[in-house]
Amino acid sequence: MVSLRNLADRIHNTAKMKGFWKAPTMMDVYVAKICLIISEGVEIMEALRKDQGAQKVTEEFADLFIRALDVHHTLAQAGLADPNLELAIQSKMEKNDRRPVMHGHRWG
Ligand SMILES: [Mg+2]
Repeated sequence: MVSLRNLADRIHNTAKMKGFWKAPTMMDVYVAKICLIISEGVEIMEALRKDQGAQKVTEEFADLFIRALDVHHTLAQAGLADPNLELAIQSKMEKNDRRPVMHGHRWG
């Protein structure tokens, strides 16, 4: 019988050989920060799920926007994102106006 530890050893060795465990780079930091934006979305959901009140929900939205704007600013300064976020939002809103109901998706 194969143990989970043996499977993990094999999986990890393969991942190392394929270059997935190199020394961390700034991209790894950016990805961690992006995960924190996602975590704020989860906190909004949890505030609703646990009926923590409208103020808590809005605070978590504030957290999400603060983190998103901070990460976007950092990526823009590094040349990894277009700095004109306002224009991108406006363009996306105009694009969404032209899309079909539910953007042609089954749900969401
Ligand atoms: Mg929060």
